Amino acid sequence: MKIVRVRNDEGIVYGAVEPEGIRLYKGSPLFEWESTETVAPFDSVQLLSPVFPTKVLAVGRNYVEHASEMGVETPDSPVIFLKPATSVIGPGAAIVLPPDSVNVHHEAELAVVIGSVARNVRAEDATSVILGYTIANDITARDLQRLDGQWTRGKGFDTFCPLGPAIETEFDPLEGADILCRVNGEIRQSGQTTDMVFGVAELVEYVTRIMTLLPGDVILTGTPSGVGPIVDGDVVEVEVGGIGVLTNPVVRA
Ligand code: MG
Repeated sequence: MKIVRVRNDEGIVYGAVEPEGIRLYKGSPLFEWESTETVAPFDSVQLLSPVFPTKVLAVGRNYVEHASEMGVETPDSPVIFLKPATSVIGPGAAIVLPPDSVNVHHEAELAVVIGSVARNVRAEDATSVILGYTIANDITARDLQRLDGQWTRGKGFDTFCPLGPAIETEFDPLEGADILCRVNGEIRQSGQTTDMVFGVAELVEYVTRIMTLLPGDVILTGTPSGVGPIVDGDVVEVEVGGIGVLTNPVVRA
């Protein structure tokens, strides 16, 4: 099932993608929801980020070739950081380049969507707290990140976490899916979910030993090699096979 969150004439609702449109639901897949008789045509609703998390956990240097291009080793245990909830935007919304940076990069990532309260979850139980998977772009002001190592500043600007378009509940990263990033149609990043240094189950265990993850929280699992700059007027697409394509325009503030 592909779960979406949309805005229509009546407000913000959850839905599921069907061949002829989006089946609208009452409630939320994070708690309780129930299908309705209404199937909205695709062009009648605006897609939003599929969740609005309380926090976005992100993992750095989780692909060997990306660590190499950054000139660092892959770590012995996951390197994690937080992106603020206010950095999240949905499909089609603009990534706004802040005046503080002249070198903003795309980072294509698989995102794990947590479906229940998760604390001290063992790796072998990780799937029990995962609702599904979506796509993220871990937008990064590379110059600010490198200036003095403040990742929270370099990665925390408003609009720096495009998320969506849908949560795929049947996805299994261990089966191997392509992760691609295109800028203006040109492929910039190409990787495989099976190339992660620390897998999703391991990441869930690691993070939930530290903090409780709540329904709707998201873990970004790191980016493959090929990160690079985006500029005003670009259109950046992140694709994960089996989930979809997340497309966002880029504008200068
Ligand atoms: Mg990243």
